[in-house]
Amino acid sequence: MQKEVAVQELYIGGELSRPVRAEYNDVLNPSNAEVIARVPRASTEDAKKAIDAAREAFDKGPWSKMSPADRSKIIWKIADLVEQDVDRLAMLETENQGKPFKLSKDSDFAFGIDNIRFFASAVRNLEGKAAGEYNGIGTSIIRREPIGVVACITPWNYPWMMVVWKAIPAIAAGNTVVIKPASVTPLTTLEFAKLMERSGLPKGVVNVVTGDGSVVGEALVRSSGVDVVGLTGDTATGKKIMEAASGTVKRVQLELGGKAPFIVFDDADLDAASEGAVVGGFVNSGQDCTAATRLYVHESVYDSFIQKLVQKVRRIIVGDPKSKETDNGPLVSSAQLNKVENMVRIGKEEDGAKLLLGGRKPPNLEAPFSRGYFYEPTLFADCTQDMRIVQQEIFGPVLAILPFSTPEEAIEKANDVVYGLASSVWTKDVYKAMKVSAALRFGEVWVNDHLPLVSEMPHGGYKQSGFGKDLSGYTFDDYTDVKHVYFDLTGAVRKGWHYTIYGQQP
Ligand code: NAD
Repeated sequence: MQKEVAVQELYIGGELSRPVRAEYNDVLNPSNAEVIARVPRASTEDAKKAIDAAREAFDKGPWSKMSPADRSKIIWKIADLVEQDVDRLAMLETENQGKPFKLSKDSDFAFGIDNIRFFASAVRNLEGKAAGEYNGIGTSIIRREPIGVVACITPWNYPWMMVVWKAIPAIAAGNTVVIKPASVTPLTTLEFAKLMERSGLPKGVVNVVTGDGSVVGEALVRSSGVDVVGLTGDTATGKKIMEAASGTVKRVQLELGGKAPFIVFDDADLDAASEGAVVGGFVNSGQDCTAATRLYVHESVYDSFIQKLVQKVRRIIVGDPKSKETDNGPLVSSAQLNKVENMVRIGKEEDGAKLLLGGRKPPNLEAPFSRGYFYEPTLFADCTQDMRIVQQEIFGPVLAILPFSTPEEAIEKANDVVYGLASSVWTKDVYKAMKVSAALRFGEVWVNDHLPLVSEMPHGGYKQSGFGKDLSGYTFDDYTDVKHVYFDLTGAVRKGWHYTIYGQQP
């Protein structure tokens, strides 16, 4: 007999809302393939209802006109409410996404709560040029205004944290939002919306529609009721969204795929670098857009680095994500598992890379985890730049290792992908680190570490990793319009420059 599971609804205009058509998707726990909830597969009519609610809240509600200080108070309350409920929410994320509870609670939620508090504070101090008399006869001031309705379209790898990065700065700046979570991981987003309601947020400021990207996602992007689209997702999705958004000349903010290089020079601390590669490469089972997936290692330390790395990777514990000991949970879905398996097959059979470790499902998992979408941490060595496993995003626990001989070669190869999100450099030579970090065409360069982000600093891509920034004060550039307001100071009927358009010079 099938177990009873919770049936979720959409969240529109401050209320739970049944979808127009009674169509639902099963939501699975990827560690055992059990159905844990049923969530509406919303239609374009549902998307329209959510857009209308957000539109009305923006145009007629109090939110966009409130002072930043008053909005800030409510947003701080949201952070407090998440913090009070963090065990339940982090466990729900683990059940739905598959990530280890320690990653969910102590990284995603701890960081996300700090992000919310940062956005709540930073919005009170947005930047712009100071007001002034730039031409001597008038005063210019800059206004930063909310833009309107923002569609926040989020991925499945950090389901809750990506909603924080998109929706919270958008609402902090006075916009209203319609959030569309990834179809396979909607649960913490729906819980977040219900929790935000208790913070005093006016109805309609936050709305959530669940369902397929090609239906509800696209309806949001094409709608003339939506002013901005923020997407975190695949580069292919970003391209489709740019095209669809062009019909209404909509602003888009795109955080897309990555294939981060990790460059180990001959003077690097190899213990630290091999530790950094494990953490940077296998975080979230490699389902991370900044994951260190291309390891360029100087030829003189190539063998010793690999030896240290292999020893450490063997100690990664794969299994029940609810267990405190687990380092890697399952991949998010059977589709993602198939994709990773296929890329590993290509690595072995078509690219001809040398498989050092992994390359299969863990053989010893017992029920119910034997039904989950687990994959062993996998290392390929002696890779070459043209291989598909070096060029394409795999989004799983698969690292490719390549030797290099000069810094110029390392830089050229590191830059030789379509992506430009994140990168790292490992060396004790500060001059080399500065030179290489300037030459890397990536939005983020770490020196002697890989992954750290802070609320105050931007995260975003170069090249086909997208544009716009998440985190930091820069993110408000994506969610505010900059308006120049000019006041005449002369009071004169006829100003000195009018003759250039009308009449004669005085
Ligand atoms: P995805 O592109 O498949 O889906 C992302 C979201 O877009 C989902 O909500 C999906 O339903 C929606 N969508 C899909 N097609 C759409 C369309 N035509 N119109 C509107 N919406 C549509 O990505 P994913 O598989 O959920 O996530 C993995 C990808 O996200 C990877 O490529 C990864 O690198 C990227 N990512 C990037 C960052 C970053 O900060 N740059 C962070 C996390 C993930």
